[in-house]
Amino acid sequence: MTYTPPVTEQRFVLETIARMDELALLPGYEAATPDLVDAILDEAGKLAANVFAPLNALGDKAGAKAVDGVVALPDGFKAAFEAYGQGGWIGLNAAPDHGGQGLPFALACAVQEQITSANMAFSLCPMLTLGAIEALQAHASPEQQRLFLRPLVEGRWTGTMNLTEPQAGSDVGALRTTATPAADGTWRIKGQKIYITWGEHDLAENIVHLVLARTPGAPAGTRGISLFICPKVLVNPDGSLGARNDLRAVSTEHKLGIHASPTCTMAFGDNDACVGYMVGAENAGMRAMFTMMNHARINVGLQGIAIAERAYQHALDYARGRVQSARFGGPGRDPVRIIEHADVRRMLMTVKAFTEATRAIAYLNASAVDRAHAEPDAARKAEAQALADLLTPVTKAFSTDIGVEMSSLALQVFGGMGFVEETGAAQHYRDSRIAPIYEGTNGIQAIDLVGRKLPMEGGRHWRALLQRERQFVAALPRTGELGQMVPYLEDAIEALQTASVWISGNEGDRLSDTAAGATPYLRMFGLTLGGTLLARQAAEAARRLDAGEGDPSFCKAKIATARFFAEQLLPAAPALLGPITRGADLLYAIPEEGLAAA
Ligand SMILES: Cc1cc2nc3c(=O)[nH]c(=O)nc-3n(C[C@H](O)[C@H](O)[C@H](O)COP(=O)(O)OP(=O)(O)OC[C@H]3O[C@@H](n4cnc5c(N)ncnc54)[C@H](O)[C@@H]3O)c2cc1C
Repeated sequence: MTYTPPVTEQRFVLETIARMDELALLPGYEAATPDLVDAILDEAGKLAANVFAPLNALGDKAGAKAVDGVVALPDGFKAAFEAYGQGGWIGLNAAPDHGGQGLPFALACAVQEQITSANMAFSLCPMLTLGAIEALQAHASPEQQRLFLRPLVEGRWTGTMNLTEPQAGSDVGALRTTATPAADGTWRIKGQKIYITWGEHDLAENIVHLVLARTPGAPAGTRGISLFICPKVLVNPDGSLGARNDLRAVSTEHKLGIHASPTCTMAFGDNDACVGYMVGAENAGMRAMFTMMNHARINVGLQGIAIAERAYQHALDYARGRVQSARFGGPGRDPVRIIEHADVRRMLMTVKAFTEATRAIAYLNASAVDRAHAEPDAARKAEAQALADLLTPVTKAFSTDIGVEMSSLALQVFGGMGFVEETGAAQHYRDSRIAPIYEGTNGIQAIDLVGRKLPMEGGRHWRALLQRERQFVAALPRTGELGQMVPYLEDAIEALQTASVWISGNEGDRLSDTAAGATPYLRMFGLTLGGTLLARQAAEAARRLDAGEGDPSFCKAKIATARFFAEQLLPAAPALLGPITRGADLLYAIPEEGLAAA
């Protein structure tokens, strides 16, 4: 199945929602001119379509194979990864001092989306490498940066993130891996980590594992966690590779999807000789890991969007070719291509609209990250950081739920051919399923949103966001196509306001009610923001049509998609007000024993 990078759509969202024109005015981002953005989207798109996409089904079938602690990828993966590294794609938004291009994260997200649509399993390798780069840029010593950053940026080495242990999943603070000081100032790491993505493979010369561990006497929980670099192969002071470190992949998992991404159980220090280098201060590891995780959460959100986009393209292609039944209510009695049936249209429009809505949220989130990074004005920088923080759990959880739902709906378009493996529709569905689980489950994201992000500065930031969206809707015309959307947008914003105020008022015993409503609240947030951001795009599309700018068919489709979302999908948002505010009682109404089969 081919993949067509949606560059016109991506460019439009970068322009209207991420506001690349404003980002390019910030110090350090001057190079991000429209011409460069176009060139990057086009070139990365070619790589995604021509190099990564053809390996997708192959990787799914053959998978990553572990033999005697060595994990081999199918033919073609090594060359593809080298092409990605040599093209400078990994370091697109890494600092120029370390060989990166210093471009905005929002643009890097658009590239990451393309690569993920093309081959999600493969995309995890550069994604985690970039996460490691970001953590080291922010927290490592100059000497560590000198030794480790450039090979990661150049794609000669790859990175991993080692948090999870059998007893420490969502509760990272329960981890037990230890770090003991050695006489030479380094540390000896000992413990087991599970589910480590790209923990072992044969694509690169070295793997830089970032490992969370506890030093002797460290406080319990997340306050007692430190971060360590544990290279697979030790690195000499001149940067050359030395001896193998005492760490290994014990096994790889057999999984529902992303078969070409090796998910490893890692053993550190079997022989008490695993060398680790502490990154940042002792017991400050969670903070450093959060640098990596916050960006990774946006990138995982992009996985939901990317997989929905690929599944949509695939389903559309099938619907245009498959002939079945006469159209109910149609003009003739002859069988038609299934794209002509209203219900198939409904499925395709739903996938298209949700994909575009979630893309807008993710790019807005990435743009806020860029502003927080580059904005010279302290107050504006803090505002941008708060918006980025507020949106991150929404990008992660809403987009990845949508990824699963939309790849399921796209599969439905194929009928029986979706359920059999030959068409590849099933792979999208299987691959999509991990994204709501890793990088903090979506349940944990919802708790993060209601428990940490909404209360930031007394709720000032969610109020500011809602106020901004309300003002935008108030300024929309009341007539014509844009006007059709207004009542739906107003209802959704009103409901989100009510729900947010209710959550903000819960304290003490009633926090259990907040927890009970967290997931439907996150959904309402995503639906509402998705609706207003699509309406913003529709307004810009209408302006371009009036001004005779841009591609008229793209602009008309934009308006129709925004209307479809507002009129057909957004009514689900106000309907969630009841489930959000009803409290926890019904969830616990049946005693635990009563839940068993009877
Ligand atoms: C393919 C794959 C790749 C992975 N890659 C990595 C990696 O590279 N590095 C790494 O460190 N880890 C990785 N992970 C681990 C992943 O991040 C964890 O699986 C995830 O965080 C959930 O932890 P858990 O599996 O222990 O589930 P649990 O924490 O046991 O959660 C089980 C269920 O309980 C819910 N739950 C738990 N606590 C709460 C709470 N406080 N409130 C509400 N609900 C709660 C969860 O939402 C979930 O539904 C990977 C996992 C997989 C499957």
